[in-house]
Amino acid sequence: MSEEGWEQKYIQEAFDTNWVTPLGPNVTAFETMLESFVGEGKRVVALSSGTAAIHLALVSLGVGQGDEVICQSFTFVASCNPILYQGATPILVDSEKDSWNMDPDLLEEAIRDRIAKRGRAPKAMVLVCLYGMPAQYDRILGIARRYGVAVVEDASEAMGSRYKGRQCGSFGDFGVFSFNGNKMITTSGGGALICPDDQTYEKALFYATQAREPFPYYQHEEVGYNYRMSNVCAGIGRGQMHVLQSHIDRHRAIKRAYETGLSGLKGISFHGNPNHLFDSNFWLTAIVLSPELTVECDDVRLSLDQIGVEARHLWKPLHLQPLFKEVPMYLNGVSDDLFARGLCLPSGPMVSDEDVRMIVEHIRSIVG
Ligand SMILES: *Cc1c(COP(=O)(O)O)cnc(C)c1O
Repeated sequence: MSEEGWEQKYIQEAFDTNWVTPLGPNVTAFETMLESFVGEGKRVVALSSGTAAIHLALVSLGVGQGDEVICQSFTFVASCNPILYQGATPILVDSEKDSWNMDPDLLEEAIRDRIAKRGRAPKAMVLVCLYGMPAQYDRILGIARRYGVAVVEDASEAMGSRYKGRQCGSFGDFGVFSFNGNKMITTSGGGALICPDDQTYEKALFYATQAREPFPYYQHEEVGYNYRMSNVCAGIGRGQMHVLQSHIDRHRAIKRAYETGLSGLKGISFHGNPNHLFDSNFWLTAIVLSPELTVECDDVRLSLDQIGVEARHLWKPLHLQPLFKEVPMYLNGVSDDLFARGLCLPSGPMVSDEDVRMIVEHIRSIVG
């Protein structure tokens, strides 16, 4: 079968066998495929979104009102919103300049300061692999262990990225993937919660399906959610697993092509692997413009827009968002600076070699 035919086969199967409901053979098969992809003996629950997965991780960890949860400030708002859903307080921590993910020194400073102020450490942290780049796992996990802070790893953008050869999403107490439309693979909308063992898997499944107790009638003792992935969406996911590796290869090839095309051009640097331990999927290729250039990143963005190319600003850090203006934050200027000077370039299977050549040429004409 061609690479593209698998989704239709599994969706058709869902209709043919009347499994158009949530639950069903596609969901189980998709979860099994995800488990063997992630490895490390993890269990995986397929859910309706990545946001739902982050939320259920916090629910499973018992995060609630009065708790503090650390969150990387340089990320998409979906990393942090579930902390608010639980009535907990986000504590924003800035990034370090190599990986663009959570700064371990600042993280430790934040935890110590919270202990000094409140007598206890935050309950958990949401650690992000921004644009697919792994975080400084060794140091961050060491700090998390030392202070007893649970780790929720938001690998929504990092499916297929590795650190020391191990898959992102498998490092935290819980891991999260997103299968939204623009992610490495898509189920049209969906996500996955990566769980450490059978027991947490069963419990997450329980919360994802309205927290129904095992009685012959509907019995409820805890708050539940309707977060399960449908069998139709999982059929798409099963199909997408056949193209996952080619998608990852393509994202990486595009990043290399931009880098080759723009090499020698002064004033442009790339979001790249800090060293050989990091192996990003390069979900998006991100560039940073030097302050010495005469053009600013919005000039480049607007100029690309003129030729029909959509480059985007990097995520606006959460500490700059009005929604989070009141929460405690530990900052070092890194994400402010990246936000002011960085752009994401078009990436992914829809972007052709010719597109990359055209974009490179255009950037050279503006910047060079
Ligand atoms: C996409 C994304 C999410 C949320 O995933 P959804 O499936 O859209 O809910 C969470 N965190 C980050 C960093 C993301 O990029």
